Amino acid sequence: MKDEITGRYSRQIMMKEIGIAGQKRLCGARVLVAGLGGLGSISSSYLAAAGVGRIRIVDCDTVDISNLNRQLLHWSRDLKRAKVESAAEKLTELNPECEIEAVSRRMDAESAMELCRGSDVIVDATDNLAARKALNMASVRLKIPFIHGAVGGLNGMVTSFLPGRGPCLECLFPADVVGAKVGILGPTAGIIASIQAMEVIKIIVGAGSSLVGRLLYLYGSDMRWKEITIAKNPSCAVCGRAD
Ligand SMILES: [Zn+2]
Repeated sequence: MKDEITGRYSRQIMMKEIGIAGQKRLCGARVLVAGLGGLGSISSSYLAAAGVGRIRIVDCDTVDISNLNRQLLHWSRDLKRAKVESAAEKLTELNPECEIEAVSRRMDAESAMELCRGSDVIVDATDNLAARKALNMASVRLKIPFIHGAVGGLNGMVTSFLPGRGPCLECLFPADVVGAKVGILGPTAGIIASIQAMEVIKIIVGAGSSLVGRLLYLYGSDMRWKEITIAKNPSCAVCGRAD
């Protein structure tokens, strides 16, 4: 009982949306965070801090000095280290109760199914459409909720896909677009990643309603949000026949 009042999770256990039952669900949950850049650094930190039991982190890159303006899990001392190694060290120190599984592997159509299997929620913190589409395919096939986030400059977008309820990422982006390298301000990634982490936690504890069928678009220069309704494409190549 003392732990509930003064322990690590006491301030969230106090919330009616979480309570002891919700905390137990969080401690028993498995989340996949794909990508440990600007988005993944922040979402994985909040998820570990909240007590998500097992977090599988996946990234095949090493830390570059140009990452440090926004990828807050990686510090100056981590240059050239594998991102998963740098991230696992910080997340374990933040919350030793959270089991971190670090996988240094490229997220693609071949690896996504294997890496996503067994997860309760998938967090899209990648930086390219091919990886996002691979995750989306795994989400639809394995029926795992999928939280999409993307950022560029001062703008960002976030939405949640719940297989069997609403659209998937392919409904939204059917074309294969090759993204160019763009500038990113750290806080833009922080805002979008924080919403992704909140969506994950709400889905795990069953609180409120999610961003399913709604895409939030942030116009950071004027600090405005636009909510865009997104619908399932009945002839979607990925989810069209799934439900
Ligand atoms: Zn679809």
